[in-house]
Amino acid sequence: MSNNEPAAVPNSDPIPFAPVPAGVCFWPVRTGDSSKRVVSFLGADSTFVGNESRRFLALRNDGARYHVGLDLYGIPGDAVVACRDGKVVNFYNFYKNSYALLINHGDVVVNYSEVAADSLKNNGLGVGSQVKGGQRIGTVAQLDENGMCHFETYTPGTEANARWPVGEKRPANLLNPTKLLLHLAENGIGIDAAAAAAKNRALGQSLEWQTKLAEIGHALGMGVAPDRADDPALALAVAKWQLANKLVEDGVIGPITWDSFKRAV
Ligand SMILES: [Zn+2]
Repeated sequence: MSNNEPAAVPNSDPIPFAPVPAGVCFWPVRTGDSSKRVVSFLGADSTFVGNESRRFLALRNDGARYHVGLDLYGIPGDAVVACRDGKVVNFYNFYKNSYALLINHGDVVVNYSEVAADSLKNNGLGVGSQVKGGQRIGTVAQLDENGMCHFETYTPGTEANARWPVGEKRPANLLNPTKLLLHLAENGIGIDAAAAAAKNRALGQSLEWQTKLAEIGHALGMGVAPDRADDPALALAVAKWQLANKLVEDGVIGPITWDSFKRAV
């Protein structure tokens, strides 16, 4: 991650940044892609971070329109998850065979797009459904060979994506997602807590850490210590600690995490 701050763009009349949330949040794509948390942008020092064509306001169609989202790395079939609690406000065909999926998170509406047509159906969701942060909401669609999550942000009340042809007035409801995504890249949880908790049930016994839950909870900064090894809140706290300590983030206290962790407990 660079220390470079994202530039306000366009510099003649910058689009406001989407608000950065307080509290628990999730990275939107569960992927094995090696660039999984790369956020592409033009820096305030005029250098590019990540891939310049993936950034907010890159040019498209030979300079005829702006790219009003930011493309996150993912592989077709990867899970797309809600970055916070929210409500599904719209779902419709967006680009080629992929769909737009708009969720109202209260202070921002996110378009988690270029997801597969069966995204809502496969997750038991529909327009109007409430979703929890970290809940699976869709699947990265297969576009030609590749896929991605094209992530757009809008002011509350938005129910459809906007397009912005170059030379026309900017969409009034459009927000710049860059700072929000940088926050999620640094702080967002990237695991399935229920699956990690199930693994922790067995590992707590085999690695004999299940008798030290009070100390573990304390070291992780959990307000309330977990009372069982398979508490999903424990898996979430472990994942956050792993991310901060540069370990593979899986929420599971396996041999490597336990080894690193013993020093902190
Ligand atoms: Zn895009």
